[in-house]
Amino acid sequence: MGLCFSKWSKSHDIPILSSSENSPRTNNYQQIPKKKPQEPWNPTASSSKPKLPSSISSSSTSQSTGIGPILRKPYVDIKLIYDIEKELGRGQFGITYLCTEKATGRKYACKSIARGKLATEKDIQDVRREVSILQHLTGQPNIVEFRGAYEDRQNLHLVMELCSGGELFDRIIAKVYYSEREAARIFRQIVNVVHVCHFMGVMHRDLKPENFLLVSKDEDSPLKATDFGLSVFIEQGKVYRDIVGSAYYVAPEVLRRNYGKEMDVWSAGVILYILLSGVPPFWGETENAIFEAVLLAKLDLQSAPWPSISAPAKDLIKKMLTVDPKKRITAAEALEHPWLKEEVSDKPIDSAVLSRIRQFRAMNKMKKLALKVMAENLSEEEIHGLKQMFNNMDTDGSGTITFEELKTGLSKLGSKLSEAEIRQLMEAADVDHNGSIDYIEFITATMHRHRLERDENLFKAFQYFDKDGSGFITREELRQAMTQHGMGDEATIDEIINDVDTDKDGRINYEEFVAMMRKGTQDYDY
Ligand code: ADP
Ligand code: MG
Repeated sequence: MGLCFSKWSKSHDIPILSSSENSPRTNNYQQIPKKKPQEPWNPTASSSKPKLPSSISSSSTSQSTGIGPILRKPYVDIKLIYDIEKELGRGQFGITYLCTEKATGRKYACKSIARGKLATEKDIQDVRREVSILQHLTGQPNIVEFRGAYEDRQNLHLVMELCSGGELFDRIIAKVYYSEREAARIFRQIVNVVHVCHFMGVMHRDLKPENFLLVSKDEDSPLKATDFGLSVFIEQGKVYRDIVGSAYYVAPEVLRRNYGKEMDVWSAGVILYILLSGVPPFWGETENAIFEAVLLAKLDLQSAPWPSISAPAKDLIKKMLTVDPKKRITAAEALEHPWLKEEVSDKPIDSAVLSRIRQFRAMNKMKKLALKVMAENLSEEEIHGLKQMFNNMDTDGSGTITFEELKTGLSKLGSKLSEAEIRQLMEAADVDHNGSIDYIEFITATMHRHRLERDENLFKAFQYFDKDGSGFITREELRQAMTQHGMGDEATIDEIINDVDTDKDGRINYEEFVAMMRKGTQDYDY
């Protein structure tokens, strides 16, 4: 009990480097402003890129021709076709708005990506690929319907079917009754997405619960995959090496940088494990610890709630979380698996599972926001120290450091990072894979390890939420902060207050805040 609780409350929600959440399409962060990277734990955060003139695109189409450099089609003023209304949500790359087609009054979702965020030719290619994958997959079951892409001088707009039923987890935790039968109904659609993608020659590469939305608020609303920002067309015989996805869901062969479409089946298997137990199968305090757990791939199907879960469900999980991708079940085979085919039990799942899923959601959201605030508040002096470190390591004064320089440099500084961690740091930072990292790459990649969890930074983050300086984060203050970052729905705010406010006075004091940020660190030894 204590184990699972602490697992989720310490939930580590920082997507790994190339995940769509924090670094949608590019590993290139040359554009990060030198002074204050916005999201230092994620060197690829595109939100911190300064706006660039549209002329930076290497595409030769000029503005004066009226041809957009991204879609290579004439500019279209989307406001003539749609009324753009309220914001529905935002990812790192785009902001999604509700919109209404003027001619028909029909409602759609429009994901708008600022041209300024498409800084490099690679970004542009990536977004073109997202458009062509959407076009390719639209019309398939459980895939969001795509209406079209429009480009104006400021933005690229992707108009698609509106999914107004919210995210998958929000639906599950709102349920009074949740059974294996319900989980199977949901999961069949997730496996179907994998099957459709693979059948259509696409590898999704970022399967996680957040990427599935419900079409409507109806009880039996279908689930749709909406975000193909990391997806690629599968090239036969090609060995894929980029590390993509989010830490919990990443397959071991992805970490070994040699993978194919089987990686999607693994991620789906992780989702199934969470749907049935409320906790992820591979867990760690840090991203690296999660990776180590993934590589170990030790699957716990014994402790609670697993004894009460049916054998076919566990059998399917084992087959999906088989380490050898060649021996792993395929999506098509999984659809034929008895647990997904036959009527499964409608005996309710232990309510503790739901409360763990609930905690996972809420805690992730506030923690993620707090971490971001802390990163943004690092002072220049703090960065100064890292600058010194960089210069010390750059022994040949070339302005860049190689892996060897980084390794010797870090060990001279008494770093306890393992060789694997250093390699990971290096790979994370070396976005252009030229074997060395430059100063900005270094700062963004290393800063959080040294700074983020220090008290004064925690305090700054607290102050960020506590707008009136009363010493308490009130419900209203939390709402304001979360809303600013596009995550302020009432249910989430309730969950956060519920979980974090341990003395039950309806607000969060500093001790409670620190406890939330550190939770799991102490609880962990079971
Ligand atoms: P990004 O690629 O920038 O991460 P996403 O495609 O994940 O962008 O969209 C960001 C957010 O916008 C989603 O988390 C969701 O809340 C909302 N959203 C995206 N697509 C839709 C849609 N079709 N209907 C309703 N909301 C959507
Ligand atoms: Mg997204």
